[in-house]
Amino acid sequence: MNSLFTPEPATPTRPHRLWLKNPLAVFTANELDAGGGVVVSGGVIAEVVGTGKAPAAPCDEVFDAGRHVLTPGLINTHHHFYQTLTRAWAPVADAELFPWLKTLYPVWARLTPRDLELATTAALAELLLSGCTTAADHHYLFPRGLEDAIDIQVQVVRQLGMRATLTRGSMSLGEDDGGLPPQSTVQDPEVILADSERLVSAYHERGDDAVIQIALAPCSPFSVTREVMMESAALAEKLDVRLHTHLAETLDEEDFCKEMFGLRTVDYLESVGWLTPRTWLGHGIHFDDAEIARLGAAGTAIAHCPTSNMRLASGTARILELEAAGSPVGLGVDGSASNDASNMIQEARQALYLQRLRYGASAVSCERALGWATRGSARVLGRESLGEIAPGRQADLAMFTLDELRFSGSHDPVAALLLCGADRADRVMVGGVWRVVDGQIPGLDLGGLIADHSQAARKLVQG
Ligand code: ZN
Repeated sequence: MNSLFTPEPATPTRPHRLWLKNPLAVFTANELDAGGGVVVSGGVIAEVVGTGKAPAAPCDEVFDAGRHVLTPGLINTHHHFYQTLTRAWAPVADAELFPWLKTLYPVWARLTPRDLELATTAALAELLLSGCTTAADHHYLFPRGLEDAIDIQVQVVRQLGMRATLTRGSMSLGEDDGGLPPQSTVQDPEVILADSERLVSAYHERGDDAVIQIALAPCSPFSVTREVMMESAALAEKLDVRLHTHLAETLDEEDFCKEMFGLRTVDYLESVGWLTPRTWLGHGIHFDDAEIARLGAAGTAIAHCPTSNMRLASGTARILELEAAGSPVGLGVDGSASNDASNMIQEARQALYLQRLRYGASAVSCERALGWATRGSARVLGRESLGEIAPGRQADLAMFTLDELRFSGSHDPVAALLLCGADRADRVMVGGVWRVVDGQIPGLDLGGLIADHSQAARKLVQG
C-alpha cells in the first residue's frame, strides 16, 4: 500500500441523480446547449439541461455550479510519468532531443520501483489537479528489478481513481546494434512480447467505462528493431489493443531512418505494418504533404505535444492539415524532462498559441484547442465514450473557477480558461465520483508526496 494515500479510504459514494446546476459557462465539445448544466447518474451523463431549463426527472442532489466553467475531463495522450524525477535538470535544460536523450538514459536506467511509484503518483496527481481525468503513459524502461513497472502504475491509477491507457513500451535496439540507448536499457524481443501479452490479459478492460487499458508501445525508430515493431503490430491486432510510438519528432530522427532503414519515417511506419487506425503517434512533426495525406487516409492518430516541441526546438506539427486529412488529433504534455509540467489545461493554451503561429489566429479558436484536449484526445485513445458532454457519455468532468486575479476583467469564461492561463481545476469528477474537491485530492498526502518525490529525484541524478 502506498503510504501517501489514506490507509483505508472510505468508498466514495455517488448520489442517484446529481444535477450540476446552471454553470457559469460550459464547453461541451459538441453543439449541445448545456447552459442549465448536466445530470449525472450511474457514472454517466444522464441528461444535458438546456439554458433556463430544469432536468426532466427529479434529482436527489443539486450542486450549484454558478461559479464554475464546466468542461469534459481533459485527456492526455502522451507522457512519460517517470520523467517527473528529472524535471529542469541542468545538464539537459538547453539540449535538443538526441543529446538530451543520451545524457538522460544512464540516469533513467537507475530507476527503482519506489521511484516509479512516486513519479507516477506525482504526474497523475498534477494532471488530475489540472482537470485531466484520463491519461496515457508511455513507459519503456524495464531495468533489472523494475520488471513490474506497469503493474506498479496500475495500482497508482486505481488509488487516484482516474482512467489510464498504460502502454507497455519497449527498447530493443541498443548502441551495439546502431541504436541510441545504452545496451543495458534494452530487452530481448521475446521478453517484450511475452510481458505485453501478460499485461493485456491481466489489466486491459473493454467497454465504455473501462478504467485501465493497455496498449503496445515500442519506443521509437532509433531504439527499437524492425522485428519488435512488426511483432508488436501483429500482437496488437491479435489482442485488439492500440499501438503507440514516437514518430517524426526531429530531423535527426528522419536522418537516422534514412541511414538505418533507407526509408523516410512514414515509409518505415508502413513497412512494419503500423499505418493503421489502431496507431497513435507521439509528435508527428516532420511530414510532407503526401505523408500527411497517407496518415489521414489510414486514420492514424497524432498526439500533439506543443510544449515539448518548443522546449526541445523540435519543430511545429502541421495539426490542422493532419486533421483535415482525417487523422484524429489530441494533446499530450509529453514526459516531464521535456515539458516540464504535467498540466493539461496549460497544454491546451500552448497548442492554441503554437498552432496560431503556423495557421493564423482566426483558424485556431479557444474552442478548437479545448476540443483537441477533450474529444480529439478521446478519439486518439480510441475512447469515444469520453471527451464530451452528451447524454450517455461517461461522467468525467472538470470544473474551473475564475476567482483568481488572473481572470479579473475577463468576459468570455470559456476563452478566459486559455487566454488568462487557468492552471488548476476546482473540482474534477471521474465516472460520477468527485476526485478533486476545492482544488484538493481527497485522501492524498500532497505534502508527503512532494517531500518523498523530491528526495527520490535528488538521489536518482546523484547515482
Ligand atoms: Zn515522448
